[in-house]
Amino acid sequence: VDMSTKEIRNFCLISHGGAGKTILTENILKVAGVIDTVGSIEKGNTKSDFTPEEKNNKHSINNAYFSFDWKGNKFNLIDTPGFADFRGEVASALRMVESAVLLIDGTAGIQVNTNYVWSMAEKNELPRFVFVNKMDLDGADFDKILDELRNTFKGSFLPVVVPDGAGENYRGVIDLLAETAYLLDGDKEKKADLTDEQKGALEDVKQEMLESLVELDEALMEKYFADEEISHEELVNALVGGVASGEIIPVFSGSALKNSGVELFLEYMRLLVPAPGKDGVVRGSWNDEPVEIEIGETEPAIALVGKIMVDPYVGKLSIFKVLSGTFTRDKEVQITNKGIKVKLGKIYRLNGAEQNEASSLVTGEIGAVAKIDELQTSDTMSAGADIVLDKIDFPVPMYFQAIHPADGTDDEKLSNAIFRIPEEDPTFKAEYIKETKALTVTGMGTVHLDIIKNICKRKFDVSFTTSNPKVAYKETIQKKVEVEEKYKKQSGGRGQYGHVFLRLEPLANGQGFEFDEEIFGGAIPNQYIPAVEKGIIEAKEEGVVAGYPVVDFKAVVYDGSYHPVDSSEMAFKIAASKGFKKGMEQANPVLLEPIMNVEVTVPERFMGDIMGDLNSRRGRILGMEPKGDQQVIKAEVPQSEMFTYAIDLKSITGGYGSFSMEFSRYEKLPEKLQEEVISQRQAEEA
Ligand code: GDP
Repeated sequence: VDMSTKEIRNFCLISHGGAGKTILTENILKVAGVIDTVGSIEKGNTKSDFTPEEKNNKHSINNAYFSFDWKGNKFNLIDTPGFADFRGEVASALRMVESAVLLIDGTAGIQVNTNYVWSMAEKNELPRFVFVNKMDLDGADFDKILDELRNTFKGSFLPVVVPDGAGENYRGVIDLLAETAYLLDGDKEKKADLTDEQKGALEDVKQEMLESLVELDEALMEKYFADEEISHEELVNALVGGVASGEIIPVFSGSALKNSGVELFLEYMRLLVPAPGKDGVVRGSWNDEPVEIEIGETEPAIALVGKIMVDPYVGKLSIFKVLSGTFTRDKEVQITNKGIKVKLGKIYRLNGAEQNEASSLVTGEIGAVAKIDELQTSDTMSAGADIVLDKIDFPVPMYFQAIHPADGTDDEKLSNAIFRIPEEDPTFKAEYIKETKALTVTGMGTVHLDIIKNICKRKFDVSFTTSNPKVAYKETIQKKVEVEEKYKKQSGGRGQYGHVFLRLEPLANGQGFEFDEEIFGGAIPNQYIPAVEKGIIEAKEEGVVAGYPVVDFKAVVYDGSYHPVDSSEMAFKIAASKGFKKGMEQANPVLLEPIMNVEVTVPERFMGDIMGDLNSRRGRILGMEPKGDQQVIKAEVPQSEMFTYAIDLKSITGGYGSFSMEFSRYEKLPEKLQEEVISQRQAEEA
């Protein structure tokens, strides 16, 4: 049904994997009457996890988008993946909603990815909620988790819906604000007044809640101190304001699996999630200057593309959030960041794998359009406004691997497939590395690349294996040398004659290659000088140490001789190239390896482990500095030591660390390792 913006409630579910987002989503859909029976993770029949990869792995990989109506409101819910390798999806979801709900497994408390997704939501400055789930399981402890939240994160966590019992003794949930219980009765929930015993047990929390809420509003505060009655409605209004301003983070609880506390949670979301567009403006830029565009009902129409999905039936689906105006079928819009105009076809609201055709999508809605090839993630669609929205801040992938065709796949088929993956997945990159003639990919981790493998097999019928990439070594010389080379052939008719004196000199790091001539008195005629240069340029592509390109040296031809009949460009080229090889052998040649600038960000307690580990990777620590409650360690580390760092850092820090890395320069490879590289290269050649 079409509804106006003020009726829209958008939120996403975020958590460490396994906290219950998918099951909570199922039960929300059941409460809202979208589905009759709840699916199960084990059976692989949930609405959220509908791709073959998700069914097999039993956890979410992609965001799942749901649009449904309930009690006169339109909800848009995004169920995000909880596994660290798929954080890109969370980054995208947070840009499309007005609030985020953190799920916590009531038996496990705060886990690694809980921290990460929470800080992402914090960065987006979204109103936030917490749902403490799995209260029906032994070991679930609401109070402990509340303490943990308060000790770990900033913000005022306020219990609003608390559990009645836990584990075997779990009976249901209690709405503190309304002082009402919702108790499990078979597979139904039954509303009940609080018993005197319950009231007594909750007196302290209730009091605490009252104080937090009156603090938000001066008028309420005065009433409170004057001992006047504060109505339920006044408290609710204070709560609504506190959530919108970010001052209060309501905490709910329940059991998603038993559908306990779910309806109450949804009722509170109806009440507390701010409607979209509350600022009245859309912010972005135009020609690199910041702009603010006033939100309109039909125009200007502005939307952000949050995700691209390729559906087996409809083809390419671009999922977008309307930030202003109304998007209708066949609307003409600009993709403003690309300067192109496109005509949209049908537009849809989404319910997991299903698309439901919509006549229009208003400000605040999340929907999709099919078959627009030009659209990509982070694009701005606009009609009637000059604005480019900020790109979605995706995590940068750092797990770098070479890939090789397998099982009857050929090179071309593999690269055709692999270069299409980034269309759907901005945290995946594919690249052809010229120096090592290798097809390489960069992803978030091993699990991510395994999923890509499955997708390639299913969608493109290609298979590949991965390995650590080859290092693009180079070679250089360390000593100035002079050599003479004469190339002479007498075979019947016209012979060959080229004769050069060459000087090879080391250049500073990063200088590349220079060529010069110092010929006096026409010892070599001018016309042959370019051939001498060409001979060296060709020869330096394969150095004498292990066949890697030679850099950072200067070659000078300073003398020679020629033969009026037998000399030719070819003869001089051959002489120069042979002369270069001979000279290089005498000039203390060495291998160079790429060195990376690395920045590792970890909580203070991991500093010692990180530095020790970087040292063992032949790293040089350049310095460290605090950043918030984290430490940033800067170091230079050889590239060959960093291929598995994305995985190793995860295991050293239990997932709390992150890092970035970029090429810095080439440096001499230690002698001992040089032997290894040479014998490896010889083995390869053989
Ligand atoms: P997600 O990774 O956050 O989407 O978590 P899932 O929804 O896939 O749930 C992970 C597992 O926990 C599944 O086996 C669920 O059936 C189970 N689960 C989810 N919520 C509850 C709950 O409230 N109680 C119990 N006992 N199990 C739950």
